[in-house]
Amino acid sequence: MSLSEQLRYREPLSDVDARSTLGFVGDIAEAKSAVKKMRSELAELQEKLYANGLSGDSLSILLVLQGMDTSGKGGVIEKVAGSVNPQGVSITSFKKPTEEEQAHDFLWRINKALPQAGKIGVFDRSHYEDVLIVRVHRLESQGEIERRYEAINEFEKAYVESGGTIIKCLLHVDKDIQKERFASRLEDPEKLYKYRPGDLDERARWDEYTEAYQFVLDRCSTDIAPWHVIPSGHKPYRNWAVGTLLLEALRDLKLDWPAPNFDLEAEKQRVAEC
Ligand code: AMP
Ligand code: MG
Repeated sequence: MSLSEQLRYREPLSDVDARSTLGFVGDIAEAKSAVKKMRSELAELQEKLYANGLSGDSLSILLVLQGMDTSGKGGVIEKVAGSVNPQGVSITSFKKPTEEEQAHDFLWRINKALPQAGKIGVFDRSHYEDVLIVRVHRLESQGEIERRYEAINEFEKAYVESGGTIIKCLLHVDKDIQKERFASRLEDPEKLYKYRPGDLDERARWDEYTEAYQFVLDRCSTDIAPWHVIPSGHKPYRNWAVGTLLLEALRDLKLDWPAPNFDLEAEKQRVAEC
């Protein structure tokens, strides 16, 4: 069974063990080297995707990363997305909407950030914030939030129909893990910059976030764009798992190097004579 199938959302979030290493065969200490080992295949498949994009193919991949503070969205970007040619990747971190963004529908800024053909797009937070933090803080009416789940499903369907593949990952940590990671940030001058006092206010609403995430999983895990719940208590496992989902998606595209759009033999002759 593929890892994508194994990690696909099925059971309630509160039942998922954040320290699980589901699907990883071997000692967890080996997960780090497993991530390094997948780099060359990731890089080659990404380059094929890019090359096909240049020759007119419409395929692209969108990796959506969601999760509570400290769940490791940044770590996955560094270790997984960082292993391929930066030219082929577009990374977007979604913050509180600007005034201009606020003046448009919530999907406006998301649509602008979708990866172009041939690219891997990574969303560090996403349109799901518009039904997560917005729901928890009641930033919109209940009716508007209800409308958004269906709008998201339709938006994702349109992206997939245009040649996109979506990999949605919820990096799952529990309250104990988050507390440990906040504490270690405060002890390490090199990690201090990641800590923001306001993060504790969000932590105080843990149960409301869990409920909001559960709604997302129930309403927006579709056949064409399923959610995956990634146990993220072990960082190397988390990186391995997301990397493997990306690899599986790239392999599923069954990419080949594009054929030249010129006369190969004639060009060889021209080069020989120039
Ligand atoms: P960080 O990812 O830690 O840099 O934090 C970004 C912050 O922006 C988080 O607190 C998000 O919840 C917030 N944010 C992202 N998207 C939205 C949104 N659509 N509406 C409100 N807040 C958002
Ligand atoms: Mg943060």
